[in-house]
Amino acid sequence: MSVPVIEFRNVTCRYGATNVLENINLHLHKGQFAGILGPSGAGKTTLLKAVLGLIVPAEGEVLIGGQALRGRPSRRVAYVPQVETVDWPTAVERDLAHRIMKRLGIEQLAKRHIRELSGGQQQRIFLARALIAEPDLLVLDEPTAGVDMRTQEDILHLLSDLNQEGISILMTTHDLNAAAAHLPWVICLNRTVIAQGTPDDVFQPETLNATYHGDMVVVRQHGMIFVQERPHTHTVHDLHPHPVLAHSEESTEELEDEREWITS
Ligand code: ADP
Repeated sequence: MSVPVIEFRNVTCRYGATNVLENINLHLHKGQFAGILGPSGAGKTTLLKAVLGLIVPAEGEVLIGGQALRGRPSRRVAYVPQVETVDWPTAVERDLAHRIMKRLGIEQLAKRHIRELSGGQQQRIFLARALIAEPDLLVLDEPTAGVDMRTQEDILHLLSDLNQEGISILMTTHDLNAAAAHLPWVICLNRTVIAQGTPDDVFQPETLNATYHGDMVVVRQHGMIFVQERPHTHTVHDLHPHPVLAHSEESTEELEDEREWITS
């Protein structure tokens, strides 16, 4: 068996006295494409930080390609940050982005200010920057956040192509439906690893309920999986048992009353 690209050995991470990750044991093997799922605050970003060597576990060890990190980043790993959270504060970064765009033959984008680029275009620039280092492992934080559905698909297909070319990928997402459709492997996280496997195995109401502490409905149809959380309190039907629909007599009358009032 080859050495795992990522290995977590009994990893616990804490901020102050609070365990954010608890006794995590994980393996990611060469060529795997895995998504970390979990609600906000589940520890997804902390887990990525541990992979990147940006946080030192309070207990246990993170190994990349068999080497213990101990707070040092590995050169085999490239990181693509979440576009929405990136501020482009320095001229140096802008300059770097422009140089990469030129190198990729997309100078027409380079001529525009980085802020004028769409989320999808920015995402591609980050991805390009990450790939220049020819990493074994690509780590992405919410690569599909804040872009339209078409761009989400494009990004996931691009990642899938890169994965086919041999790059191992670990990404976080909170889009369960996109994960079900596009990711070969998912890891459900909420402080601990609740489950991992193919979407087909993992997307079961019990597993998702345990991860999200919610009431998840899973529908399987035509070989696809759809997930939706059952509303916590009211549905629109509880709140509006007798909805006022457009063009009802009542609303027209009200409108006419108002018009009279305005003209009088
Ligand atoms: P996720 O990415 O799943 O939303 P995070 O890893 O960002 O989760 O955060 C997990 C928990 O750790 C949250 O409760 C968050 O408030 C807390 N946390 C994250 N970063 C810090 C920090 N630098 N200091 C203290 N608490 C933090």
